[in-house]
Amino acid sequence: MAGSSLTSEQRQRYARHLALTEIGPAGQQRLMRARVLVVGVGALGSPVALYLAAAGVGTLGLADHDRVRLSNLQRQVIHSMEGLDQSKVDGAARTVSALNPDVTVETFAETVNAHNAMELLGAFDVIVDGTDSFAARYLLSDAAYLLRKPLVHGSIFRIEGQVTVFIPGRGCYRCLYPEPPPPGAIEESEQVGVLAALPGIVGTIQAAETIKLITGVGDGLVNRVLLHDTMAMTFHEVRYRRNRACPVCGDRPTVHQLADDAVRGVGVAR
Ligand SMILES: [Zn+2]
Repeated sequence: MAGSSLTSEQRQRYARHLALTEIGPAGQQRLMRARVLVVGVGALGSPVALYLAAAGVGTLGLADHDRVRLSNLQRQVIHSMEGLDQSKVDGAARTVSALNPDVTVETFAETVNAHNAMELLGAFDVIVDGTDSFAARYLLSDAAYLLRKPLVHGSIFRIEGQVTVFIPGRGCYRCLYPEPPPPGAIEESEQVGVLAALPGIVGTIQAAETIKLITGVGDGLVNRVLLHDTMAMTFHEVRYRRNRACPVCGDRPTVHQLADDAVRGVGVAR
């Protein structure tokens, strides 16, 4: 039985997964062998990293160039006063290790850009987008497609959020949003408010989708985007398809490598 290679402590720690027919010992082993990269350890990356660590994902890559600020603590729940003014990835790594020492954490205290994205993403099985800028989302989507890696996308704005899963060949961020919004149409500044629990809702869904991808169970949020409005407390699903004219994943792609104009700082969901 696959579960026989778990230690006694692991059998206790993951008892509720082992008892779940959808996960069981085989699913838990898959989680323990998985390598997941969380890009952006801010509002979305916090719940993602916490739940994936709790779930026993074997290796968690954490990429973020930023430092912890007091204004982050209203919603970036992986950070605390102890890590104030320190590197986000270092603080998050400490929290993850305290939660589950089984998890190997690889930290990347750097900006993900067109020069390092392929090598960075290429070392992982699943990529989770916890960034906060359109440039970053296109960059991660392009890189994940070129590397044929699944990408668990999430984004938040004020009181709204959305989640979807991009599987290479079944649509990408450019299929969903062919063009970025015109500059100034959507504020990306720190002046935009965010309801504290909203990234928890969206990031937790991203974590659940990641666990499903790794263990191969359930119906993934593929070809459908889940839209959430916290004030109305509604969830709506919009279906989308791969765009055959998509420059990246279409029938006649024109983008075969990350473009230099994608070299932009990758922000983090604030
Ligand atoms: Zn596409």
